[in-house]
Amino acid sequence: MNQPTQDRNEAQLDAIFDRCNSVRQLPMPERSELPEGFRGLLGHFPVYFPEEISHAAGLLPVSILGGGNKLDMKLADAHMGSFVCSICRSTAELGLNGSLASLNGFVTHPICDAAKHLAGIWARNLPEQNSQILYTPQNPNSPGAVRYVVSEYQRLRAECEKMSGKTVDDAALAASIRVYNKNRRLLREMYAIRRDEPWKLGCTESYLLLRARTRMSCEEHNEMLEAALAAVHARNRAAQDKPRVVFVGGFCEQPPLEMLEALDDTCYVVDDDLLIGLRYITSDVPETADPMWALAESFIERSAASPVQHDERKTKEGYLMEMIETSRADAAIVTAAKFCEPGLDEQVAWSKHLDEVGTPHLVLEFEEKMTSFEQMAMQLETFAESLLFATA
Ligand code: SF4
Repeated sequence: MNQPTQDRNEAQLDAIFDRCNSVRQLPMPERSELPEGFRGLLGHFPVYFPEEISHAAGLLPVSILGGGNKLDMKLADAHMGSFVCSICRSTAELGLNGSLASLNGFVTHPICDAAKHLAGIWARNLPEQNSQILYTPQNPNSPGAVRYVVSEYQRLRAECEKMSGKTVDDAALAASIRVYNKNRRLLREMYAIRRDEPWKLGCTESYLLLRARTRMSCEEHNEMLEAALAAVHARNRAAQDKPRVVFVGGFCEQPPLEMLEALDDTCYVVDDDLLIGLRYITSDVPETADPMWALAESFIERSAASPVQHDERKTKEGYLMEMIETSRADAAIVTAAKFCEPGLDEQVAWSKHLDEVGTPHLVLEFEEKMTSFEQMAMQLETFAESLLFATA
């Protein structure tokens, strides 16, 4: 590819990343701004939400990921203790201050006490919205687990039908599964680039591309991803001398973008668990005659592990070591959001195990509302240098 073509390719990518970054910061769309074919919006809290059901009902599924580091907290403190994680507090703030008024409903999960209680705050303070808790099984290893998930998904289907006034038949659900299967394939391709040619796509760039799906239809996201990945493949960038690391701890509350940029400055992040709820089914959902069963079975049998899934086939240490091995990482950055009990619990287990097996790692804590990154950047730089020195 000659230089002018390279420049055009970079300009196209810059425009896509800029768009994703503005989508990230935009207020929740109004119902009048919905993409064609959608009748309403359904907000869902991380982690394991089957967007296909909402999509099939004509409700745009929008991930509710808190307020980042620009939100002024005024109302939520009256409803929650100061020891509750930032994403729960800022999500409540957004609900109470009217920023999420265009939602038809809000679904949370019992991933932790704080997340579960959000549903109660919603129901009492936003009675005009349909507030639900989607219960995933405590014991996914039970023989009845898939049947149980099917019954929860059927309940969600009925609630979605009430909200949108549209019947979700199996054909509609199968069509939505096909759209999301395409998205899963594109996201797998994106993560393969991060693993195989990390100099072509940074962690921040891939995060922005992924996060855009929280505010646009999956169809539109598929188109955007296809264009972005073609341009990323065509990038002519040389590899730099940076250590390969895996980043974990971003499964629910999201680290600020500045933290990911500091990571990119010093390391190649070759795998991560950021926004794992948008890509938790690790292969295509089978396109069978019973789409609801296929969706539930995929969650039980082929979903990505996280600190809020308790499946005895996926040990805390096991899934991290698998990420490190498959991505050929030299080290791990094990983080947890402040006040996140499941995340901090996992962080202790990870760190102990990495010590035992002699895998270098850096332990960090973050909060979505962090605004100062100098100290963290220095820690990352020192860590990266120590890794390069060890392998020199
Ligand atoms: S960040 Fe942790 S504590 Fe907060 S809602 Fe998520 S899982 Fe629960």
